[in-house]
Amino acid sequence: MKFFVLSKGDKKSNLLTKKIHSYLQDFSLTFDENEPDIVISVGGDGTFLAAFQKYTNRLENTAFVGVHTGHLGFYADWVPEEIEKLVIAISKSTYQIIEYPLLEVIVRYTNDGKESSFLALNESTVKSVEGTFVMDVEIKGEQFERFRGDGLCISTPSGSTAYNKALGGAIIHPSLESIQISEMASINNRVFRTIGSPLILPAHHTCMLKPVTQSDFLVTVDHLSSLQKDVKSIQFRVADQKIRFARYKPFPFWNRVRDSFIEKAES
Ligand code: NAP
Repeated sequence: MKFFVLSKGDKKSNLLTKKIHSYLQDFSLTFDENEPDIVISVGGDGTFLAAFQKYTNRLENTAFVGVHTGHLGFYADWVPEEIEKLVIAISKSTYQIIEYPLLEVIVRYTNDGKESSFLALNESTVKSVEGTFVMDVEIKGEQFERFRGDGLCISTPSGSTAYNKALGGAIIHPSLESIQISEMASINNRVFRTIGSPLILPAHHTCMLKPVTQSDFLVTVDHLSSLQKDVKSIQFRVADQKIRFARYKPFPFWNRVRDSFIEKAES
């Protein structure tokens, strides 16, 4: 089996990365940065997002594992003390594959009919470069609302505990194939109106944003951000691809939610 280990880059993560690397080679696994079967991220959820974005072109052939060197993460759920156990499990391939849904983002441009597409594990956000963000929001091909405010966040179920949660969105179990649209400071008064609640769309519904006055937008996809110019539309839906987690121990989603946001259960 071929592996790659991505470190957050701090001293603790680098040391642990080195250790995992040499243990895996001792078990005759091959280091292969280009075509790994398994990718281990060492750091936090942010590092895990970076590992995911590095291998979006080979999701069918790569499984991911996260080790955290800070606090418990949603994706990084192994602690450094467990790495011997983890390495043995990886080398014996005694893992279960768990799949989570992803968000597909397609940006289409006004000038040349070209498009760019992205996959998000957490979310994509759209904001204006300057002035109030104004977009027509279409759902399943029908005009839904004209949104005015700071921007919109479209998240995956596993990303629902990240930016989406800070915006008042619901936490969605990752077994539900869906995307969630949450508002950033919408303008609501006697003239302008938005739904005001987060919306959860099923896998067969598409959300399309169409610019009204501006054409340049700041678009984020997980931790990455870009300035998108001459935007004609931005389309969001549940992606056909999924992320595959190599799961070596049960750690139910709701336990992770509790341990991260309420309190750590006694072990
Ligand atoms: P960052 O600003 O350094 O970290 C954002 C925080 O979000 C970190 O504590 C990170 O955990 C945590 N996080 C990431 N994915 C999560 C998830 N699925 N559930 C719960 N918490 C999660 O940025 P970054 O590390 O590059 O991560 C980018 C992410 O930051 C974006 O995808 C977005 O979700 C999030 N973000 C949140 C807000 C907000 O809450 N107001 C604003 C902007 C962006 P670790 O410490 O374990 O890495």
